[in-house]
Amino acid sequence: MVPLKAETVRGCVGGDEVMPASVDEGGSAVCNTCGRRTAFYYRHSSGERLCVACLEESLANHVKHSFSGRIKLGRAPCVSVYIPLERVLEGFSLAYLLSRIEVKFNGHVIVMVSHEVMNALREEGVDALLLSKGNTSYEIIKTHEAPKCLASESIKTSIEVIRDARSSEAIQESQAFLLPHTLTDLNEAFMEHVILGTGDLDLLDLRGMEVDGVPVLCPFHKVQRADVIAFSYAIGSAGLIQRITGSLTGGCMTHNLIKRLVLEISMKHPELTYSMLKSIKFFQRPQDTSLHSGEGT
Ligand SMILES: [Zn+2]
Repeated sequence: MVPLKAETVRGCVGGDEVMPASVDEGGSAVCNTCGRRTAFYYRHSSGERLCVACLEESLANHVKHSFSGRIKLGRAPCVSVYIPLERVLEGFSLAYLLSRIEVKFNGHVIVMVSHEVMNALREEGVDALLLSKGNTSYEIIKTHEAPKCLASESIKTSIEVIRDARSSEAIQESQAFLLPHTLTDLNEAFMEHVILGTGDLDLLDLRGMEVDGVPVLCPFHKVQRADVIAFSYAIGSAGLIQRITGSLTGGCMTHNLIKRLVLEISMKHPELTYSMLKSIKFFQRPQDTSLHSGEGT
């Protein structure tokens, strides 16, 4: 485990604030969940301090629950997770959690990556981390896509990549596709629509998302990005971002305004990050003249 220290994370990963547990105390703190292990990460949205094991369990629970209500997997299921270049840390963390969860169900996990992401995993020396349970394999796919700077574009393109990759024999076996986009991504995509007038809000309604009848799940849709980034420090994969930074500079600068805005909301009013998505229906609704139906009454 790589210790999460203030000097390690300041200004890290696109400006996302990932706070060490001891940031305000100058010393070690105990995990609020288990009450015995040393806390590693301060979850700003809830005010909790978490140890690595409890952070992992919390994220793993989100992955498990994402299947509930959408799909009932049988014994030895096959599920795929796509790691987009621009979400390499989140994607790797999701694949890591999934490979460990599926061991219990004798499941097979296919990790869909482009050549560029595969090279980054190898260069960083973390590719074998996903193979350690013996139930995971990589599937190299062609994306032909430059990394997307807007969250809404990243979600949309990821679904298109999955659809194109369905011709692969291995991927055809998948009973579900998982994407690593977080609550922070959904918030950013929402703000992109409200401020920039771009993106498809229907994509943020995750309940019905599918590719050719196969469900597409976003297990981190109620998880702040900072939680997932903190976990990538815990499993030693955070250095991946340095391997792909060259591919992300330039185009992503236009996204900075929205990103900073959502980050500020997350820090000052974390409750709004959950509630703002409830207004999607309002923005989706075409101009409704019945709003004035009360006239003359
Ligand atoms: Zn704990």
